[in-house]
Amino acid sequence: MEVNYCDVCKKAVENPIPTRTFFRVADIDICESCKDDLDVAIKHTVRGKQPFDFGWYDEYSMKVLREGVQKGKILLKR
Ligand SMILES: [Zn+2]
Repeated sequence: MEVNYCDVCKKAVENPIPTRTFFRVADIDICESCKDDLDVAIKHTVRGKQPFDFGWYDEYSMKVLREGVQKGKILLKR
């Protein structure tokens, strides 16, 4: 059985399915629930950002992710 560990919450994901139950962003592996949190965290910030810019988007995703790896969870700013 294959097991991958989420770099953010450290949870084990058994038999990970890439892009379905397990995601790799740059050099960081994340589980489905952390990916959901990441999407929410980014969406919330992107809404107030005009015009939309992919360079900024990628940079921001990485910043949120690296903070998540340090803190053990993705921070949702509300
Ligand atoms: Zn996780």
